[in-house]
Amino acid sequence: MQQGIFAGRTAVRYPYGRYGYTRGGGKRWHGGLDVVGLDDATIRMPFYGGKTIRGTVVRARCVQNKRDATWEWGWYVCIKLDANQTPDAVNYLYFCHCERLLVRAGQRVQSGDALGIMGNTGNAAGGYKHCHLEVRAAAAGTGLDPTAYAGVPNAVGEYGSIKEDKPADDTSQSRLQVITIGPVSQGDADAVLAVCRERGLTDAGLYKSEWA
Ligand SMILES: [Zn+2]
Repeated sequence: MQQGIFAGRTAVRYPYGRYGYTRGGGKRWHGGLDVVGLDDATIRMPFYGGKTIRGTVVRARCVQNKRDATWEWGWYVCIKLDANQTPDAVNYLYFCHCERLLVRAGQRVQSGDALGIMGNTGNAAGGYKHCHLEVRAAAAGTGLDPTAYAGVPNAVGEYGSIKEDKPADDTSQSRLQVITIGPVSQGDADAVLAVCRERGLTDAGLYKSEWA
């Protein structure tokens, strides 16, 4: 069950993670909502009021030049919604501070699609892993109320219920999946192995020698 932008339970950890929160004596206004995925770190395209919405990835990047304020977003994805997807003024969705991205600019996406992995790249407030979800009418505009997309209220708390298809702390439910890839270069084989490890897949079933 997807709750907002994550499958399973989500949380808003700190008061300063709320949309519209002001800090630094009024100098710093928080234009998004900082959402944590408790059961799954995969950030997904949200539904809107239970309805599937569609759009196109217009940005999937990390800005290094600190004269560009969007460097603070670290690795981020911007989705431009297709026309007439939602009744509000929102046209652009931003998913920020990702550990890594799972989409590329130009790609078509719809509700439920994986966009990135939650992280704390850029200037992630508090330094903890979360997704800064910001929604705008125009790409250069300011953040609008993101709660309809976040799937949670603009308040500190834990929300949703645990994913039915992934019992907590029960690894006996995992499936054996045999995938044959090849022939591949040693470099590609190493890259595949690195991704498997990153995803928490055990090395037990990976026969590296067969890849040579
Ligand atoms: Zn934020």
